[in-house]
Amino acid sequence: MIQETAYIALGSNLGDRAHYIYDGVRLLIERVGVRVRLSPLYETQPVGYLDQPAFLNGVAELWGKLPEPRELLATCLRIEEDLGRERNIEQGPRTLDLDLLLCGDCVSADDRLTLPHPRMHLRAFVLRPLVDLAPEARHPVLRASAKDLLQALEATEGRMSGTG
Ligand code: ADP
Ligand code: MG
Repeated sequence: MIQETAYIALGSNLGDRAHYIYDGVRLLIERVGVRVRLSPLYETQPVGYLDQPAFLNGVAELWGKLPEPRELLATCLRIEEDLGRERNIEQGPRTLDLDLLLCGDCVSADDRLTLPHPRMHLRAFVLRPLVDLAPEARHPVLRASAKDLLQALEATEGRMSGTG
């Protein structure tokens, strides 16, 4: 256990979406035992599998004595399950999705845990709330701040619309 900062993306598009996200944050606080800050939440349209409701997305910052990244991931997957997540369709609707974005400077190419999250720099719905919380958070592989990654993405895709 070392003192560091981790960022987790939260997304929900079933039922009372905000409720699932707040419940997820509450369980992270209880089970990981660290301080948590939650970004503003954004309503975003699905990507990949399009035939599903809009998402509510945000990012949580965890600060304190964090467990190993694998253990943190296991806790996240357990919280998803406890909040009723079922895995039927890949990229399909979910009550709560928790993705580990960054764990300090940790880099991992493992199949079960890729860090930083392999698609974080391609997703405005992840970068926007991450920048709200921590514009200077660093991507240890791309060697760029969250703010720079969002700017680069907006230069190619345009600005994300709609806040929740
Ligand atoms: P997605 O989030 O891509 O829609 P899932 O939530 O179903 O997909 O996750 C599938 C698997 O991805 C998880 O069981 C987990 O082992 C793996 N995984 C690899 N890297 C990460 C990461 N950084 N954060 C969360 N899950 C990850
Ligand atoms: Mg996930």
